Amino acid sequence: MMGERTVMQEALFYSFRIEEHVPGDHLLRSIDRFVDLSGIREHLKPFYSAMGRPSIDPELMIRMLIVGYCMGIRSERRLCEEVHLNLAYRWFCRLDLDGAVPDHSTFSKNRHGRFRDSDLLRKLFELTVERCMAEGLVGAEGFAVDASLIRADVHRQRSVPGEEGLPPEASGRAVAEYLEVLDDAAFGGSTPVTPKRINLTDPASRWTAATRERAFYAYSTNYLIDLDHAVIVDVEATTAIRQAEVLAQRRMIERTQERFGLWPEKLVADTAYGSAPNLAWLVEERGIEPHIPVFEKSARNDGTFARSDFTYDHEDDSYICPAGNRLRRSNRNFSTPRSGIDKDGSIRYRARQQDCQTCTLRQRCTPNMPARKVTRSVYEGARDLTREITASDAYRVSSRQRKKVEMLFAHLKRILKLDRVRLRGPNGTKDEFHLAAAAQNLRKLVKMKPIPGLAPA
Ligand code: SF4
Repeated sequence: MMGERTVMQEALFYSFRIEEHVPGDHLLRSIDRFVDLSGIREHLKPFYSAMGRPSIDPELMIRMLIVGYCMGIRSERRLCEEVHLNLAYRWFCRLDLDGAVPDHSTFSKNRHGRFRDSDLLRKLFELTVERCMAEGLVGAEGFAVDASLIRADVHRQRSVPGEEGLPPEASGRAVAEYLEVLDDAAFGGSTPVTPKRINLTDPASRWTAATRERAFYAYSTNYLIDLDHAVIVDVEATTAIRQAEVLAQRRMIERTQERFGLWPEKLVADTAYGSAPNLAWLVEERGIEPHIPVFEKSARNDGTFARSDFTYDHEDDSYICPAGNRLRRSNRNFSTPRSGIDKDGSIRYRARQQDCQTCTLRQRCTPNMPARKVTRSVYEGARDLTREITASDAYRVSSRQRKKVEMLFAHLKRILKLDRVRLRGPNGTKDEFHLAAAAQNLRKLVKMKPIPGLAPA
């Protein structure tokens, strides 16, 4: 029999609790258990005036941003519409049915004001790390580091050749931020090389051809993760260039130690982090085992002996060549004593000319020079240690573990939809990367610590 509604007029009173209408297995219900923003109000207190009209509750805005980044809604305008309409979002934001949703412009005002002045989004990210630590998800035995390119929100045609520099009439918030970070080693100061092109909309983004695709403007998001459960223990935004990414790795390791007292025994990374100075920094200054392929430049493609064909004798501080002769450091007496170390941090070892002239291997060793030279980095000790590690079984395990950080980037781009930044300038980029990393840590908590009785997400 076909039923018919019997309600003929609107009820005068409703008994309605949003809580009862949010499914028990909704992602936000699980996330809510790990979001404690009680400290946020205290943190922000100095940035609000004691007088005047009450502001929008900052906790409401932070909860809305968490909804946005966890659910892949990054447009603030759309986020406001969704929170207005969606009961689960309202419940998470502690809004009842007639609770007013702030206007989207409130986010931008606070982002450029109090949130940035108080470094609030960094604080939010660190709260998620602390929670992961409290839940026992961070072992701190091994970390992995990597960077991923995120497209800048710019039109590629609005640009000038790098050597021309920014035209004097260029203006705007992103231009002002670019000028502020020109000497910052994570951005303009990371390399003396002039970029090929400078974008006029967001000049701090870098023109990069690092992928197989057509060159584009990008920033890098750098993750330092704990290998136990792939919790992000630090995040840093940099320009899309290797030198800046290596510097970010150092900053993140130092900061993680200062803020959380985490000190990894090993660091897993790819060849981009395998330069001699970086390996020496890890080994000699931080006491961290580098599970990183050594960045080798000594291989030759003309068939002649590479440096690896020469054996270094530690006791004698000399190399032994394939013919069994010694290559030694220069022992010439200069009127002004010299260190024997080149500007690039390498030391030259030379064979004796009479050895090479009569050597049967000369055509395979030094066909065009009277005697063979071999260079050795002043950091070669750290490189040798790293080579030993990369030949071990433990390194094979580490190589597989490195995939964990790559999977986080894939999740960031595919699920959280952050393959392109929405905000411009270094500050907007930092905000987005902090929020996205916080969202990923919250989702990790949900996965590893599900509500009892619920299947893991
Ligand atoms: S050419 Fe000189 S350095 Fe090379 S193998 Fe012969 S003696 Fe040794």
